[in-house]
Amino acid sequence: MNPFTDDLVAKLALYSIDAIADMIIWTDRDGRYVSVNKAAQRLLGFTLEEFRVRRVCDVDPLFSEARWREHWQELEQAGSLTLETINVRKDGTRIPIEVTANMVTVDGMRFNCSIVRDITERRRNEAKLKALNERIYQMSITDGLTGIGNRRRFDEALAGEVSRHACSGEPLALILIDIDHFKAFNDRYGHLGGDDCLRRVAATIAATVDGSAGLAARFGGEEFACLLPGTALAETTILADRLRLAVTDLAIPHAFADAGIVTVSVGAVCSERVIAQTSNSLLAAADALLYRAKRDGRNRVAVGRY
Ligand code: GH3
Ligand code: MG
Ligand code: MG
Repeated sequence: MNPFTDDLVAKLALYSIDAIADMIIWTDRDGRYVSVNKAAQRLLGFTLEEFRVRRVCDVDPLFSEARWREHWQELEQAGSLTLETINVRKDGTRIPIEVTANMVTVDGMRFNCSIVRDITERRRNEAKLKALNERIYQMSITDGLTGIGNRRRFDEALAGEVSRHACSGEPLALILIDIDHFKAFNDRYGHLGGDDCLRRVAATIAATVDGSAGLAARFGGEEFACLLPGTALAETTILADRLRLAVTDLAIPHAFADAGIVTVSVGAVCSERVIAQTSNSLLAAADALLYRAKRDGRNRVAVGRY
């Protein structure tokens, strides 16, 4: 014979209502608080008496009268539903909450019995995760040495701009920049000297392109690429030479270069008409022009129309 009476079991059930961490909130159809457990009083800071003279609309800034009526109707249809909203504590601070509302009929009266969870911690973790994801994404598209965009960043942008160019017909320019005699620079000044040179050239290229809608990225080794949507041939020619001069203006000594300083060769292609450009065909065109600038003596610009 079980020694635990129904009366005792009912007492235990009542005890558990006040022992759990989640809020249990009963309201009537007007949103008036009928009954709340200890967790609700502790988390929101109102006494039972203070709750009794309040309605959900007083505590939840996202629930207007109209929203509450709509909620009640939805609940009558669904029987139970879950939503996220906000509650304002007695001291004015806000907490994000998750509400599981249930339509319950007792003695012929309908009530909303809600299990309400404080999701501050969850929200904080979500925000942390989001920030971490953003940091990881930024790292994945940034060149570790120079801090400008990397090849992945460039490839993504190029694919996007090529399809935008195909739709809009706006011109699209692509500039490839290669440091002249960089192997010899490394041989003469060491790889750390080479790294420092790469950083300075990258910063100069980025600063020169900055202000236009363009993107500058490290394409690979001692090569950089600029993508310039909306830039016509004449402007491309000016910008390509401005980039070359910006690097010579740095006047980084290079004992094994003809000019005695670090210089770059530049291949720039501008697509002003939509034909059948692809990322690869534009890159190949810019690369061929860069090769021409090298062959013609380096420290120069070769520009072409796609
Ligand atoms: P050219 O004028 O024809 O462009 O000749 P180059 O010597 O610049 O070209 P080459 O392709 O022969 O050499 C490129 C050099 O760039 C070789 C490589 O050691 C160096 N390099 C590539 N990446 C890095 C890097 O991250 N740091 C350093 N210090 N050097 C790098
Ligand atoms: Mg190269
Ligand atoms: Mg080179």
